[in-house]
Amino acid sequence: MKFGIDKLKVLAYRIYSDFIRPSRLNEWHLFLQTVLDNGYEIHSVASFWDVLNSNQLSEKKKYFILRHDIDTDTSTARKMWEIEKQLQVTSSHYFRLSTIDISLMQEIDNYGGEASYHFEELATYAKTIGITDKEEVLGHLDIIRAMFKKNLEALREQTGIPMRTVASHGDWMNRQLGVTNCVILDDKNFRKELRLELEVYDPEFMNAVTSRHADAPYPVFWNPNNPLNAIQNQEKVIYLLVHPRQWRANILVNLIDNLYRVWEGVIFFFKTYWKN
Ligand SMILES: [Zn+2]
Repeated sequence: MKFGIDKLKVLAYRIYSDFIRPSRLNEWHLFLQTVLDNGYEIHSVASFWDVLNSNQLSEKKKYFILRHDIDTDTSTARKMWEIEKQLQVTSSHYFRLSTIDISLMQEIDNYGGEASYHFEELATYAKTIGITDKEEVLGHLDIIRAMFKKNLEALREQTGIPMRTVASHGDWMNRQLGVTNCVILDDKNFRKELRLELEVYDPEFMNAVTSRHADAPYPVFWNPNNPLNAIQNQEKVIYLLVHPRQWRANILVNLIDNLYRVWEGVIFFFKTYWKN
């Protein structure tokens, strides 16, 4: 009985979060203002990577790395970016193939921020073929890498943006397989060939971070805790990941995304059913 009530609660939170709750964009403005008022220098992933690489990490400064993964909803992504522009903040924005917005990406790049690729070829490939096994999907890494290369090069060509860093997307398929999309870049020569300096979870980057946070679905809001606590504790390098969905309920986008997720599950079920 308790199991059923818990499930209903999760569903109710999801419905409220996706379709009803008021916009949190004012809160986003206030949050960033608090970061600045507390003396933090706000960076994109690429600009902080440059600080690390040039050994310019200052004893006196505090750093705040701001990363957006645009999983859905480019219109909210734009609104969040416009707030950042008002505050003269630059940050990183990683777009999936399903959320590519060439003009927004170019505007972010021209403003001095970072717009790049939120990749998921391993999950996409597994869904297309109907693979449920980690070892099996890893046996197809050459094809998956070729897909990644083609997509990254096309994006660079379309946007004119160099895309020095990329970010792996965490899909339901990655959780099912027990392997992240990052394995695509577990090959130094492949990275070199593509002129990729960094994947956002690389230890060379993460080791410099002293406090890491992400936004989370209602009613939790932050994972593992509120970054304002880290600011209060004067953490040296705070790294925050945010997603448009947690800041504004775009009803139509969320409806389509939820229906698409169900559709993907149904198609995948039939693919694996017929395969076995
Ligand atoms: Zn993502």
